[in-house]
Amino acid sequence: MLSEVIQGMWVTIKHSLRSRETVQYPEVKEEMPVGYRGLHKLLLWEDGLERCVGCKLCSAACPVDCIYVESAENDPGNPTSKGERYASIYEINELRCIFCGYCEEACPVGAVVLGNQYEFCEDDRDKFIYEKGDLLVGSMEEVPELKARYSEQKLLKYV
Ligand code: SF4
Ligand code: SF4
Repeated sequence: MLSEVIQGMWVTIKHSLRSRETVQYPEVKEEMPVGYRGLHKLLLWEDGLERCVGCKLCSAACPVDCIYVESAENDPGNPTSKGERYASIYEINELRCIFCGYCEEACPVGAVVLGNQYEFCEDDRDKFIYEKGDLLVGSMEEVPELKARYSEQKLLKYV
């Protein structure tokens, strides 16, 4: 009993002597840890084609039903993705999202990923529905923070 009290006091003393770091946000922005789940991104392949093939698995996996996907057949002469289909509409309601990461785990081609962006504010609820154009970024090579994260977590195991 006494040893637990001493142990507890030691922890309190140790922490009270530590220097405090106050981050001067928003002038100074902290770097998020590698595994941080922030706003979504949709990745392209290195050749510029969209990774997303419109399969809707992310939407099915989402526990709060905040992903809406409509798919369409690719034009063989001018494809949008590498699959037979692509997402003609891809929307995520970021207000409803709980950032659980199930969508990226469900995606068979590593198209939808959670980036490290934690700041998002709008003056209208509708603006939190991010459309495909808001979500599309470059390839993994062009987004260094994603590259660091996904090579570490080996999430792109199906690619
Ligand atoms: S992170 Fe979770 S809640 Fe958010 S869109 Fe993906 S599956 Fe849905
Ligand atoms: S993001 Fe992935 S899981 Fe979602 S529709 Fe596109 S390919 Fe399918």
